[in-house]
Amino acid sequence: MKRLVTDLIHHAYQPPGGFEAPQPGVFKASTVIFPSVAAMRSREWKDKSAYTYGLHGTPTSYQLEERLCTLEGGLQCLLVPSGLAAIALVALSVLRSGDEVLLPDNAYGPNKSLVEGELMHWGITHQYYDPMDPQDLEAQISSRTKLVWLEAAGSCTLEFPDLVTMLRICKQRKVLSALDNTWGAGLAFKPFDLLPDESPALGVDISIHALTKYPSGGGDVLMGSVITRDPGLHMRLKLTHMRLGLGVGMNDVEAILRSLPSMALRYQAHDEAARTLAKWADTQPEFVQVLHPAIPGSPGHLHWKRLCVNAVGGAAGLFSVMLDGRFSRDQADAFCDALRLFKLGYSWGGPMSLVVPYELDHMRTNWPAHLEKGTLVRFSVGLEAVQDLQGDIEQALRVLR
Ligand SMILES: *Cc1c(COP(=O)(O)O)cnc(C)c1O
Repeated sequence: MKRLVTDLIHHAYQPPGGFEAPQPGVFKASTVIFPSVAAMRSREWKDKSAYTYGLHGTPTSYQLEERLCTLEGGLQCLLVPSGLAAIALVALSVLRSGDEVLLPDNAYGPNKSLVEGELMHWGITHQYYDPMDPQDLEAQISSRTKLVWLEAAGSCTLEFPDLVTMLRICKQRKVLSALDNTWGAGLAFKPFDLLPDESPALGVDISIHALTKYPSGGGDVLMGSVITRDPGLHMRLKLTHMRLGLGVGMNDVEAILRSLPSMALRYQAHDEAARTLAKWADTQPEFVQVLHPAIPGSPGHLHWKRLCVNAVGGAAGLFSVMLDGRFSRDQADAFCDALRLFKLGYSWGGPMSLVVPYELDHMRTNWPAHLEKGTLVRFSVGLEAVQDLQGDIEQALRVLR
């Protein structure tokens, strides 16, 4: 019995090498075995030359990191347990007590919650700038500003900012720029090559991506990435990543590796359906405004056109509508409740269409002039037939008529 127990742990059989399959193998580990003490002492966890401990990666996570670098045009990648963890890692790594961070007023809500609820207690201050006004961003940069968050398109309201001008301002003022690239996903535009003609090419310093959305594509995995092109900046982030003990499960990494090859096709399908629905929604009298960067007249449409149409293209699968202010909150809720195919739920990027009503007055420092008054409803368009989705919104609109 004792021998058996040992044999089940230290078995002599080794499978033959040379196995190859379309999908990478799933290598799971906390412990990594070293062949000798010398190897244990000499191996470096900071690069991908070898393996040291599960938190620092296995062949499975190394492969996802490299593929994500290819997707976004970066050179180094860190994996974290969620998109929000990627945002937090950037903040904790580059900000110190006494520093200030600037966020667009339409930033991803939990990023605002992080600066207001956590960073503030550590003596790190924040300001919100008008995402549609690069001068406002410039005016708010001070000697204490150490990080500027950029987001294109903005969360929920989907304004497309003048990313290139804002990036130039960050570079001129020598402030680190971090982009939440979840919407663009590496497909709508290239965050590290926003100005390819400059030498060296101008791009953001850091791109974070909620892999939870399009890279996963299933609505079943949470993960985030932090991508850079500067080895020094990457090492700073990697040290914080190591000290905080951030790791990801290899089954989740495998799920993302499995979905990644179909991501561009899915993104295109979400995009086409969202444009069709947004254009149709624009003709419905109950919606006083339709927010989608590819719709002429939507805030930042020309910025989107300049950056995305000539680049890789694309506009993701989201659009929002402003439900006429004459409808009460209860009526707006009844409209959302009446939807059958659009399910009530957060997040996006999966096959199932989703809807969320938002109370914009609780999300912004002020109601921006470019947004009509009303109730904001955000649609995330899945992969269902677009006629069925349009029919679903049509039948739900009946509760308002
Ligand atoms: C969903 C989302 C995140 C966070 O992703 P999680 O994995 O859910 O934490 C960050 N930024 C944007 C723009 C998102 O939409």
